[in-house]
Amino acid sequence: MNANASLRAGFAGLGTMGLGMARNLAARGFPLAVTNRTMEKAIRLASDLAGGPAAVTPLPSPARVAELADVVVSCVSDGPDVEEVHLGPGGTIEGARPGTVVVDCSTIDPAVARHVAARFAEKGVAFLDAPVSGGQKGANEGTLSFFVGGEAAALEKARPVLEAMGKRITLLGPSGAGQLGKATNQVIVAGTLAAVSEGMAFAKAAGLPLEALHAALTGGAANSWALEVLGRKMLDRDFRPAFAIKHQQKDLAIVLKAARANGVPLPGAALVHQLLSALEAKGRGEEGTQALLTLYEELSR
Ligand code: NAP
Repeated sequence: MNANASLRAGFAGLGTMGLGMARNLAARGFPLAVTNRTMEKAIRLASDLAGGPAAVTPLPSPARVAELADVVVSCVSDGPDVEEVHLGPGGTIEGARPGTVVVDCSTIDPAVARHVAARFAEKGVAFLDAPVSGGQKGANEGTLSFFVGGEAAALEKARPVLEAMGKRITLLGPSGAGQLGKATNQVIVAGTLAAVSEGMAFAKAAGLPLEALHAALTGGAANSWALEVLGRKMLDRDFRPAFAIKHQQKDLAIVLKAARANGVPLPGAALVHQLLSALEAKGRGEEGTQALLTLYEELSR
């Protein structure tokens, strides 16, 4: 007996993150309706998963998905895209009913999340902002961390769906609080990126054996996810994107706007935003954020 078969799920936005997230929903047995701007991706996903534990139905719009789903999840790029998918023509709001829960996992401006939630509330539809941390690996492996803003009752309804995609689901407050939680995550990620880049540039300039030093550092108080994962890539001179500079820049723009709205200066995050801008100006926005190392190297003797 499939315990999840009674809760119908929907998914809009089958990109780097969304594809793995949707696959995990189907693998856990949720009847799933999917849509994507480029519809071929939704059709291909449904055909890949045919014969699996749950029916996967590709549909041409978020509105059609919402008609069939109890919980609709979206993961698109930025605030205007979230507004288009949910409030635009053919958007989720046209198909959702009172009692539907809409969960948006995109990283966007908290003010936009609050606005979208208010529009859904007029229809008796709950909207949760639930941006994620964990990257494509976490999306594929179902180990994402969700930062959630919205009503507790709506989260309880959506919880089985989120549990199929992630390991930590944390309600942080009303609408927008999830986005503020993710913004905090990005402040810390930016700071540790800069610290590791600066440290590795210094060690290289000082002529230290970098492999041995990295092993020593990861065993001590300087250790962090950034040192382990991004530091490793720096040693390998691997600047391919796991998390692209242009994506970190979108997130830091959200962070700095929210910081201003809350009257808090974030000089560290602002500095990293400017340094990454210098790489973007060189046409390197598609590279991984660990490429920040090279900027410090260029500034060195
Ligand atoms: P992505 O690969 O660029 O995928 C974006 C998806 O959104 C695609 O399916 C795209 O459709 C769809 N989309 C974009 N704009 C749309 C619009 N106006 N209307 C309808 N559909 C639209 O992005 P991603 O890496 O999956 O990231 C998605 C979100 O998760 C972003 O907010 C990002 O900041 C956040 N995030 C990403 C990571 C990461 O490591 N990648 C980690 C944590 C959080 P098409 O297929 O037609 O282009």
